[in-house]
Amino acid sequence: MHMKLYRINKSNIDRKGNGLCAAKNIKAGTRIIDYVGNIITKKQTENSDKFDNAKPIYLFNLNSRYDLDGDVSWNTARLINHSCSNNCEYEGKGLKLWINSIKDIKKDEELTCDYGFGYDSDYKQFPCKCKSKNCCGYIVRTESRWRINKKFKKNLRISR
Ligand SMILES: [Zn+2]
Repeated sequence: MHMKLYRINKSNIDRKGNGLCAAKNIKAGTRIIDYVGNIITKKQTENSDKFDNAKPIYLFNLNSRYDLDGDVSWNTARLINHSCSNNCEYEGKGLKLWINSIKDIKKDEELTCDYGFGYDSDYKQFPCKCKSKNCCGYIVRTESRWRINKKFKKNLRISR
């Protein structure tokens, strides 16, 4: 087995919590860690109280039938914090999700993703402390195909 590309570290962004950082220099375009969790049906998502807008959640829209609930202790990738100038991105194929570097990352640099929260939701609940130059002050998306869809319940109601 090769050495892991990441390690758990105190976060510079989320001062109260942990994040992941690069265990060595990582080239752009590297698959760093899988994003795992429970695959659940849209119906389970819809019927669960867990997926409301009151807290950040780790719910991904996989396809028209299934979501992935990454809010589980064995999903180390859930520790990755949001940054407005992220160096990683969620990638997916089929029912698999993983984290890819989109920039060259130096050893000990914190790994960050774009959480992809919508502008049109209650974005003020989620201030961003990433301190990057282009920080917009809140955790909202730029453009991301595999995004956390915390508005999912609302969307479902509209689409029925
Ligand atoms: Zn920011």
